[in-house]
Amino acid sequence: MSNDDCLFCKIVNGEIPAELVYESDSAVAFRDINPQAPTHCLVIPRKHISTINDIDPGDEQIVGSLYTAAREIAAQEGIADAGYRAVMNCNEGAGQSVFHIHLHVLGGRSLSWPPG
Ligand code: 5GP
Ligand code: ZN
Repeated sequence: MSNDDCLFCKIVNGEIPAELVYESDSAVAFRDINPQAPTHCLVIPRKHISTINDIDPGDEQIVGSLYTAAREIAAQEGIADAGYRAVMNCNEGAGQSVFHIHLHVLGGRSLSWPPG
């Protein structure tokens, strides 16, 4: 379930501090250390899954729970109605730098599309 070398597993296990904003049985969310918007949270599964490519059919409930977490966080942060982005990068070419899947929840400013 947990990967000894993984930064986000260490946050799940409380070995590295983070400003938690949400917790459930399957997911944890915390503020990004380098925020790109007034609200920038990362929603991660408690289970270590390296990339979207490593999601198994049995993980569907866990991955779905990342979106219910995003919904809760958007409401908490007061950005639900104005709009926000929930996005997951897969592998280096898309900008993934931490290899434990995470949904970026970004809001509190206008967000352009397409992203760079
Ligand atoms: P990625 O580039 O993999 O899509 O996103 C990784 C995110 O994790 C980045 O936005 C980065 O700022 C954030 N991050 C990296 N290390 C830490 C950390 O130790 N704590 C927190 N809260 N965020 C981190
Ligand atoms: Zn991990």
